[in-house]
Amino acid sequence: MDLLSLVSTVTKRRGDYFSQAKTLARKYKTQPTLEDNMFKEAKAIVLALRDKQIKWEEYQRSLVDKTLISALTAVYLGAKDAQPQAKMEKAWPTVVGDMLPPLIKFLGETKARLDAGVLRIGDNTVDFADYIPDDILDDPAYDTDSPAMQAAINAGNGRSWPALFGRVVRYLSTPTFSFFNLGEYFVRQEQGFGEMRRAAKRDKRTCPDCKTWDAQGWQPIGSLPMPGRGCRCYDRCRCEIEYR
Ligand SMILES: [Zn+2]
Ligand SMILES: [Zn+2]
Repeated sequence: MDLLSLVSTVTKRRGDYFSQAKTLARKYKTQPTLEDNMFKEAKAIVLALRDKQIKWEEYQRSLVDKTLISALTAVYLGAKDAQPQAKMEKAWPTVVGDMLPPLIKFLGETKARLDAGVLRIGDNTVDFADYIPDDILDDPAYDTDSPAMQAAINAGNGRSWPALFGRVVRYLSTPTFSFFNLGEYFVRQEQGFGEMRRAAKRDKRTCPDCKTWDAQGWQPIGSLPMPGRGCRCYDRCRCEIEYR
């Protein structure tokens, strides 16, 4: 699957993605609920592949569809009552441009690991319930001697089924925060707000990039990137954008 043909395929299906996103937005209502449900869907789709309920082609198609629909749903929720459909359409090039290039690379890596037998179909030796996302690994409050922690360390980067799940979450679930902010940004821009500010969490896990954006204070609207853009914490970024 190459990027150009994938972009042309998904572009033909745009209308379908928009209507599915609208349905999901009405169902989940808030960004955190969307994020939680997409987390569950990420687990379900990885388990379905592992347990031979779906074939590779279906996994691949489903991951592309869910990634796009999840991002669009987040934009829709961020726009609230201010013409959310139009905001989704406006966000489409950003959604496709941000998500598809890394997703296609990720799918290629996964396929190579399946072909090489690093990931084995039917292998249920690691319990998903024990899996710890890798961002928790550097939390000093976490007990490094626990079996779950050891399993997470041994899992490696996408080389086990639970680790693959951890990466799928970063396409389906965690990016919803940034796209929700993008939907809200389109609305604030329309409403004529002149300045924006990117406020970091200011806890011990806040990355240096987010601190730098935070330190810039109020800036002309449109001049600061959305959360997760321009920072090394990517989709895990939880900076707040304020407008005035
Ligand atoms: Zn950051
Ligand atoms: Zn941040």
